[in-house]
Amino acid sequence: MIGYLGVLLPGVDPRFSILLEWGGVLVFGLLVGSFLNVCIYRIPRGLSVVAPRSFCPGCHLQIEAWENVPILSYLILRGRCRRCGLKIPLRYFLVELTTGVLAAGLYLRLGATREAALAFVFACALLVVAYIDLDFFIIPDRISLGGTLLFFLASLPTESEADWGEAIVGIASGWTLGAPSSAAGWRDSLVGLATGGLILLAIAWSYRKFTGREGLGGGDVKLLAMIGAFFGAKGVVPSLLVGSVLGSLTGVALMLLRQADRRTALPFGPFLSVGALTYLFQPAGGLPPAWEWPW
Ligand SMILES: [Zn+2]
Repeated sequence: MIGYLGVLLPGVDPRFSILLEWGGVLVFGLLVGSFLNVCIYRIPRGLSVVAPRSFCPGCHLQIEAWENVPILSYLILRGRCRRCGLKIPLRYFLVELTTGVLAAGLYLRLGATREAALAFVFACALLVVAYIDLDFFIIPDRISLGGTLLFFLASLPTESEADWGEAIVGIASGWTLGAPSSAAGWRDSLVGLATGGLILLAIAWSYRKFTGREGLGGGDVKLLAMIGAFFGAKGVVPSLLVGSVLGSLTGVALMLLRQADRRTALPFGPFLSVGALTYLFQPAGGLPPAWEWPW
């Protein structure tokens, strides 16, 4: 294994170039994670994600550049604001770390490709949605609908394409065999986003009809549409299934711990996001065929 940098810099010691390459990917992921923390805090509060600079929500002290280094700052400050001592939630640390791991995982799987970049954007969107939904029970449209549009546009043909018939056969086999579909193009993305949206819309409608309660929000519907736009229709059902199972298990666990009862509402976004991430990283291919493991 010599890596991409090793190919670009043939004279350099491969051990050094590998270290540099993976270190670079990890640091990039951590920095993006730091930005995702800003998004998670600011988007649901209607604040701009670019300005002003970060501040402590307790004492409004502006956070200096050295305090904004992912992971390290949290450890150096021991999780507290240096002026008022307000606890910095452990989540900031976890989001940074998770983003770094996602970047490294996608790089391992897809290399320095357009697909890796797109999958990373997808994973970041899921992460932000999960935490915002956990806090506020909302999934911002600008992420779910923005993502749906972005992933659909990204699926527009660049080279070979399957026709409608192939797309439908691919979707059917993806559902029944769990195998990756052979067609992943704009039609698949379009069918995927429609499938994702419609399935949840139908479930939400029947739930309301039979229980008289609101079980799923419109945000969940748009999130599954985004997941469908990214994977194509084949990824919709697996993501939904894994999300539902995880959500149910969590609900039961909370009831057993007496932290919740039958009527307690759990946000569905975090579970749906984990479902989609599971599908993305499953070895049999949540990714279109051209995105298979390189070995
Ligand atoms: Zn403070």
